[in-house]
Amino acid sequence: MSLKMPEPDEGVIARRAEIAAALRAIVGEDNVIDSPTGLRPYESDGLTAYRQVPLLVVLPETTAQVSRILAWCSEQGIKVVPRGSGTSLSGGALPLEDAVLLGLGKFNRVLEVDYEDRLAVVQPGVTNLAITKAVEDAGFYYAPDPSSQIACSIGGNVAENSGGVHCLKYGLTTNNVLGAELVLMDGEVVRVGGRTLDASGLDLLGVVVGSEGLVGVVTEVTVRLLPKPEAARAMLIGFPSVEEAGHCVADVIASGIIPAGMEMMDRPAIHAAEAFVKVGYPLDVEALLIVELDGVAAECTHLLEEVEAIAGRHGAVGIRVSTTEEERNAFWAGRKAAFPAVGRLAPDYYCMDGTIPRRQLPRVLKRMGELSEHYGLGVANVFHAGDGNLHPLILYDANKPGELDRAEEFGNDILRLCVEVGGVLTGEHGVGVEKRDLMPEMFGEDDLKQQQRVKCAFDPDLLLNPGKVFPTLHRCAELGRMHVHHGKVPFPDIPRF
Ligand SMILES: Cc1cc2nc3c(=O)[nH]c(=O)nc-3n(C[C@H](O)[C@H](O)[C@H](O)COP(=O)(O)OP(=O)(O)OC[C@H]3O[C@@H](n4cnc5c(N)ncnc54)[C@H](O)[C@@H]3O)c2cc1C
Repeated sequence: MSLKMPEPDEGVIARRAEIAAALRAIVGEDNVIDSPTGLRPYESDGLTAYRQVPLLVVLPETTAQVSRILAWCSEQGIKVVPRGSGTSLSGGALPLEDAVLLGLGKFNRVLEVDYEDRLAVVQPGVTNLAITKAVEDAGFYYAPDPSSQIACSIGGNVAENSGGVHCLKYGLTTNNVLGAELVLMDGEVVRVGGRTLDASGLDLLGVVVGSEGLVGVVTEVTVRLLPKPEAARAMLIGFPSVEEAGHCVADVIASGIIPAGMEMMDRPAIHAAEAFVKVGYPLDVEALLIVELDGVAAECTHLLEEVEAIAGRHGAVGIRVSTTEEERNAFWAGRKAAFPAVGRLAPDYYCMDGTIPRRQLPRVLKRMGELSEHYGLGVANVFHAGDGNLHPLILYDANKPGELDRAEEFGNDILRLCVEVGGVLTGEHGVGVEKRDLMPEMFGEDDLKQQQRVKCAFDPDLLLNPGKVFPTLHRCAELGRMHVHHGKVPFPDIPRF
């Protein structure tokens, strides 16, 4: 691994058998994995370029067990990496050689569904899609829909503030989670948020969502449920250039229409997706937009006409509007399968995630084409175009010496470009280890220290998921250093310990 991670503590590694025994006393014999073959499946998450077999894996089943595990590890100075389903694309769940990997897979129950208050209380290992499956017969659904929704866990979604096709209109995870139960590194169990849109006190739930497993282990989540819209229709719109497709996206939003989803694919992605799912995507266009409108049926029809008119002004070709639910699902099938479809174009691909102001799309795509030539590596693009969230898929072959390094450099240049045009380093996949060392491109040293002070408030010994998100870990004592000016401490009336 070329990535620099915190130096492993050889003393902890030497105590492996003792640690396994202590954890078995908490969770039982079968819920600790320490055999080399048993540990191997946990060596990476969705960012498979980086691998590290964990010290051992523990699979608790109750909040009380999580609390005891964390309290014991905290007392012993042992690091812990939380893991949901392991689909993170930024290496957030990448194990450490001297850390316990805490898997939440056994927390897989929907605990409560309350249609009157339109919420569900679920355990963190429940998959995103399973929440919708549990309530769809009653006409409800859980809105954020990452393409990985069949596998990824709601705990992982909370940790990454995950998004999906429908987040343009319905918001990301942070807009759809009402409350959470969290176990802090010292074992304390706390609740943040509640069962209503606005809980009392500081918005600590806002801190927890997107915290990438750095502040606590989420052991229960209360999510919002939405009623399924009366109608949803999707349209496929082909464009002669990605620039025109980009301008169309910007004009649809500027006109005041917020589609339920607005996704774009470029030529390589269209061809890969069509070959994979064969749903009739046009192959003679440079860009394809999939736009979905939902609401009451009459509103949908009206908005479809409006979008069609805007698209026509940008040279759209071959517009198709879904007339049945099967056809709507078919339009989406290629987009939802775009990642595995692109996976057939090259032995490996590297999925990037950055966000840009929508208007910058043509400029960024043009530059990406130049970078593709410079690095000699192909790239296919799928985007959550309405949000300006890019997912360039860089094609490479890990078996060819130097190609992974070139793919990483190419990816870093794309992310720098996102920041340069006024965007940000990540849209929905998190920072993890992948973008950790690029954080200074976006934040100054003071910003980073301030963010780390928040981490220190939850985990002062920096034992939870270290090596992720922050390029430099400062000891918390160093960050909390008191400034003594002319021999006087600030606020002398406050008792000090
Ligand atoms: C094919 C594919 C498509 C994808 N599409 C999308 C997409 O459309 N949108 C999107 O947003 N993402 C997408 N992803 C990325 C990924 O699925 C999400 O980031 C997802 O939320 C990760 O969930 P997980 O359960 O797999 O978490 P993991 O990968 O196990 O962990 C992710 C992070 O969350 C932390 N974590 C996990 N569970 C907990 C917990 N209970 N408490 C505290 N911390 C925890 C981990 O420490 C880690 O930092 C995709 C991934 C793949 C492989």
